[in-house]
Amino acid sequence: MKAWRFHAFGDMRLDEVAVPELKPGHVLVEPLCVQPSVTEAQLAFGIPTLAYERVKRRLETEAPIALFGHEFCARVLETGPGVTRFRRGDRIAARAKLPCGQCGMCRSEQGNRCRSGPVIGFDLPGCFAEVASLPELALVRVDDRLDNREAACLQSLSDSVAAVETASLAMGDTVAIFGQGSMGLECLQIARLSGAGRIITVDVRDEACRMSVELGADHALNARQVDVVEAIRELTEGNGADVVFECAGGSPKQGLAGTATVRQAMQAVRSGGKLVGVSWFGAPFEVDIDGMRERSLRYVFPDISTLAHLEHTVRLAATGRVRIKPTLTHALEGLDKVPEAFTITANKGKYHAINPAQVILKH
Ligand SMILES: [Zn+2]
Repeated sequence: MKAWRFHAFGDMRLDEVAVPELKPGHVLVEPLCVQPSVTEAQLAFGIPTLAYERVKRRLETEAPIALFGHEFCARVLETGPGVTRFRRGDRIAARAKLPCGQCGMCRSEQGNRCRSGPVIGFDLPGCFAEVASLPELALVRVDDRLDNREAACLQSLSDSVAAVETASLAMGDTVAIFGQGSMGLECLQIARLSGAGRIITVDVRDEACRMSVELGADHALNARQVDVVEAIRELTEGNGADVVFECAGGSPKQGLAGTATVRQAMQAVRSGGKLVGVSWFGAPFEVDIDGMRERSLRYVFPDISTLAHLEHTVRLAATGRVRIKPTLTHALEGLDKVPEAFTITANKGKYHAINPAQVILKH
């Protein structure tokens, strides 16, 4: 079978490899639609972000390796011994970060805090291939109301569900969201379902601002046109938002906001309010801790999403409470188009992409 393998950063090749063997507790699947995450797309080109050192080490010692491909919709071809929840023909999606099942956290039912388990696409081969082997405990069945392209977004959407849960919104809270890429737009819709009173979104792209209004934002601020901190304070009687999600940060070379949006987010949140850190930055940077201390800010980070989050995500999307379709801007056909999907996804601003570029493998 054919699978994309990385021989080095920036060097991916469509290699002929052996079909994975069917292991106990695993299923073999044929990917139907797959997309690189923004993190994967940056790592593919050697841009430092989450898991950079780990991927670099693997490439230096094990290349060529099958990397990435944890955001997908696939169809079950065959089930291994012990698999009970799935059968041949089921459409599935998966969570990426899996519990190890053995550590103290896992034993006390806090698997979402375990950091010893494997990650699909990083430790286990993902779905940039004709066939993939996946552990049953990662999987969820895709509702018939969702098409393959929507289902390929479920993993990222479940991370957004976990991020909004971390915010513990109170009914009527004013929420500001910096960054209206796919996760920002997801957090917007889920915050709306979770009791947010008023939602103010921030982006530098007109198309993203338009999309956020379409998906439920009360005010969409273009940071190129207004002083967003001042605008948010004005909209909140000078106080700032109760909760601010920071989903815009990251490498400016990829059209992301660097670290500036973290400082803006800190100024845009009210005293005693919460800042939810969603972005990855790829390197340490300075923040005004005393300023945070003085204003009693809480800077919180989401836990890893669980199977329960993913199952809830399927319901949210299948019932139309969260809309994915409007964010799907780029679709490519065929496994050979994978590198193009990485290029578009690593430079979403330049290509006017909202969701990562998707690769359709089977209809
Ligand atoms: Zn564990």
